[in-house]
Amino acid sequence: MAMLLLCIVNGRETKRAVHLAREKVAKAINCKAKEIYFTSCGSESDNLAIKGICYKNRERKNHIITTKIEHPAVLHTCESLEKQGVEVTYLNVDEKGCISLYELENAIKENTILISIMSANNEIGTIEPIKEIGKIAKAHKVLFHTDSVQAIGNLKIDVEEMNIDLLSMSAHKFYGPKGVGALYVREGIEFEKLQDGGHQERDKRAGTENVAGIVGLGEAIELAYKNYEGYKDKLKNLRDYYITQVEEKIPNVSLNGDRINRLPGNANISFEGVISEELLYKLDEKGICASGGSACSTANTSPSHVLMAIGANSKRAKGALRVTLGMQNTKEDVDYLVENLVQIVSELRENET
Ligand code: PLP
Repeated sequence: MAMLLLCIVNGRETKRAVHLAREKVAKAINCKAKEIYFTSCGSESDNLAIKGICYKNRERKNHIITTKIEHPAVLHTCESLEKQGVEVTYLNVDEKGCISLYELENAIKENTILISIMSANNEIGTIEPIKEIGKIAKAHKVLFHTDSVQAIGNLKIDVEEMNIDLLSMSAHKFYGPKGVGALYVREGIEFEKLQDGGHQERDKRAGTENVAGIVGLGEAIELAYKNYEGYKDKLKNLRDYYITQVEEKIPNVSLNGDRINRLPGNANISFEGVISEELLYKLDEKGICASGGSACSTANTSPSHVLMAIGANSKRAKGALRVTLGMQNTKEDVDYLVENLVQIVSELRENET
């Protein structure tokens, strides 16, 4: 009897905790709690959004529009859908990584069901014109999904103001736990579930909920926006300090992405005559963690598809170093990084000649 009572209390408590987390996510992006579905990560949210919409509508409309610089979670989902007969348009981006709204509007056809464009790029940090994309999507009665995995916590996202119909996020990108994500789907939009089983998440995502992860995600998103202005300003200042220091102290470097319109903590710089794997190895010895292309594909050594899409040649792409500054980084950290870069880059260049 005591055990049964405990289970009932725990069951109620966990339900309440999950509900509270859902409300926190909804408040952060200005939607209703019932429009949030918890998942295991950003990749799952992207899959559920894009495949879910395509499968539901495949008899009616089967064309989607995305970009050449999406994360593999979107690109590979689209490639998989192409094999299943869905038509996909991959938009180009300019040299800063920004899409053309004109090209987007021209790509919309009678049978276009979905536009999926990331809010901000994970490698070069470029922020896409989300509000304008939302306006175009709405005017043409096309659904709009955005992969906001890099944006949540770093940018203010309002799904109403920006006309976003579906949005993906991942907790560990805003200091939440790993292994939990969420998908926002506007009320009334039907999508097909991808996983069969129980009726969790209003029958859209079968499987026992990761309660601890969900609670962590809720706390993290609330904290991220509570401290947003100070956090964003601090990161922007540090990022700009890092970029100018590198440009002043190391010759033949080029910034990838937009100087201003980029994620607050992202700096992606190519070092001419340097292979980023060698640079990363040497930085790691100094206790510095960075990334050559995308941290999500560290096993992949081919030149970054994002850098190629912005027109970088393969040498420039292979010499790119992505630094992501975070909440705990200080000016002293940046000075230490730059000091080491000056030395390592010069050594590597000497070895090359
Ligand atoms: N989308 C973007 C833009 C990302 O940067 C990432 C991961 O870094 C993902 C999707 C995948 O998220 P997750 O690792 O939670 O599956």
